[in-house]
Amino acid sequence: MAKPDVLAVTKLHPLYRQALDALYTVHDRTHETDSAGFDAMAQRIVGVASTGEASVPGGLLSRLPNAKVVSVFGVGYDGVDVPTAIAHGIPVTHTPEVLTDDVADLAMGLVLSVGRGIAQADQYVRAGRWPEGPFPLGRKVSGARLGIVGFGRIGKAIARRASGFGMAIAYTARSEKADSGLRFFPSAAALAAEVDFLVVITPGGAATRHLINAEVLKALGPRGFLINVARGSVVDEQALIAALHNGVIAGAGLDVYVNEPQVPEALWSMPNVVLTPHMASATNETRQAMADLAFANMQAGTSGQPLLTPVPECVGMSGVR
Ligand code: NAP
Repeated sequence: MAKPDVLAVTKLHPLYRQALDALYTVHDRTHETDSAGFDAMAQRIVGVASTGEASVPGGLLSRLPNAKVVSVFGVGYDGVDVPTAIAHGIPVTHTPEVLTDDVADLAMGLVLSVGRGIAQADQYVRAGRWPEGPFPLGRKVSGARLGIVGFGRIGKAIARRASGFGMAIAYTARSEKADSGLRFFPSAAALAAEVDFLVVITPGGAATRHLINAEVLKALGPRGFLINVARGSVVDEQALIAALHNGVIAGAGLDVYVNEPQVPEALWSMPNVVLTPHMASATNETRQAMADLAFANMQAGTSGQPLLTPVPECVGMSGVR
């Protein structure tokens, strides 16, 4: 019997792709590479496979009359036109929880790295500069003030880790979490003014675009560090570059950028910046768990079973738990 057809809208992680290949005929970006071929088989597509960063526009979903699910490999789904998916009765799923620990770990790694200059110190030793004299003093992390912008699954996991460092933790989100026992600020700017390290971990998309702007960076101040593990769009990248260049803030640790995989060259040579290539959930263990969950959602969606992890907007859709 012929395998059902699914469309991969981007290059998928090999673990997700291999799992799909066993059960489905995977059409890899056919909508971009072969318009006529895509038109010929669009009717047969029962599922769409995507990643946290890729785009699933409404125009594409409108051309897939038999799609039963969009399964995103990632917790963020800002690239998916969710209202259009819902309008067409196509639920969207993602992979929450399984990557929370890794992202929180990397956030703390960036806090430590920018505070203590770990990446720069490594370069200092490798360049044979240690005999010239000691490496410049860093910023103490233990006991410092940490602000978390976005206090969901990952934000809370960052707070748990930071409490082990004896940090004074505060946060902002859309709503106050009274049960957290932590100090809430109603805006990112108000929070930034009270902390040494500001960690950003909200979803991307229109609602959070440039949430971290010049005003927030000014409030963070010349002894403050910005960490972004959310999405590049959440930070005004040009304002950040200017703030780093002009000493408006002390430094930054960045895992995400506006135009990935391109990183603004202005950041490359800045000594007060640590740059990682969108790798917060990139461990073997977590990528396997993400692939398992994304595949399970695809399988459930295409076979009419209850979805494991629909995105919040799709909970309660008919046929969706
Ligand atoms: P989550 O549990 O949904 O938490 C999101 C948090 O952001 C919530 O606290 C929410 O506030 C807050 N938020 C949403 N819109 C906001 C706004 N306009 N202003 C202020 N706060 C806002 O999601 P999660 O599992 O923690 O994941 C968060 C995000 O991390 C993902 O969406 C993704 O973009 C990013 N991420 C990045 C990587 C990476 O590789 N760098 C990996 C995984 C995830 P409320 O609680 O008040 O609703």
